[in-house]
Amino acid sequence: MPAEFALIERYFSALGTLRTDVAIGVGDDGAVLLPPPGQDLIAVVDTLVAGVHFPPDSAPRSVGHRALAVNLSDIAAMGGSPAWSLLAITLPTVDEVWLEEFAAGFGALARASGVQLVGGDTTSGPMSVTVQVLGFVPAGLRLLRSGGRPGDLLFVSGTPGDAACGLTLEQGKLQTPSSQAERILRDRFLFPTPRVALGEGLGGLASACIDVSDGLYADVAKLAMRSDCAAHLELTRLPCSPQLAQCVDAAEARRFTLTGGDDYELCFTVPPSRSAQLDQLAHAVGVSCTQIGCLTAGSGVTVTEQGTVIEFSHSGYEHFGG
Ligand code: ADP
Ligand code: MG
Repeated sequence: MPAEFALIERYFSALGTLRTDVAIGVGDDGAVLLPPPGQDLIAVVDTLVAGVHFPPDSAPRSVGHRALAVNLSDIAAMGGSPAWSLLAITLPTVDEVWLEEFAAGFGALARASGVQLVGGDTTSGPMSVTVQVLGFVPAGLRLLRSGGRPGDLLFVSGTPGDAACGLTLEQGKLQTPSSQAERILRDRFLFPTPRVALGEGLGGLASACIDVSDGLYADVAKLAMRSDCAAHLELTRLPCSPQLAQCVDAAEARRFTLTGGDDYELCFTVPPSRSAQLDQLAHAVGVSCTQIGCLTAGSGVTVTEQGTVIEFSHSGYEHFGG
């Protein structure tokens, strides 16, 4: 790639928050990082491929934001605090306007979440963006998918379904008379908000947690399976944003909420004795958390509507055809 070093220097050398626990950042063969004592390290990585994870003509600012956001969401789901990030980017051509916007999107979210970009790789080829994030969790407070127990209450943050509806609008496959609702829903896909502060607070409070990336139903199924429990989802409890309700009818809204992906909300279980503590946390971090069901002994996911079991089988988005 021509002038690779100048590009890295220009766009990626001081991106995000300048952290004191970075001894050596971008510029050497590797980064040297100073993990705090008493904390466990959490490592996550995610790849976004053009045409698969984002439309090829997506606004580069959104691609930069999402590439980091999906990783911050995984850190949040583990109860961690994000710290360092690495970026491996493959580009078909050097488009400086694209790079500048990409770096602006990545950088704004990195600054907002206390993350410093400390290294990466820049190559030419079909466009794809791989981001790694490293973060910490106080020893013993890590949140796993597997900690749920029968009787635990099942919650979800925010209003899942918005991002999938936003993508559908973005693709021109849906029309809505409300331009304001349309803008909000599109932004929920283009600029998702990873629930970092909520995840940090859930450590030591929630029994299990997963982030909702593949659709609520599919991700609840994963949490239930790893917790060796059955999950019950009550349709009438599902949160729905006013914007989603404005754009589609109730049945379609539920379909988006249960099966749409890309929300990056947190889905988690809390023992009933701690639900008041959860209310306090949700209030403190300013994120709505809705109880959508519970775990019981058994396996699988049961969907009910006012208590009556209804047939529902959609596994959400699966790679390799599923
Ligand atoms: P090497 O050949 O030793 O792997 P590179 O020339 O690829 O080194 O990278 C030089 C420096 O720039 C390294 O510190 C690397 O981590 C950093 N770097 C390269 N690409 C990126 C990128 N896209 N974002 C952040 N840092 C990068
Ligand atoms: Mg080297």
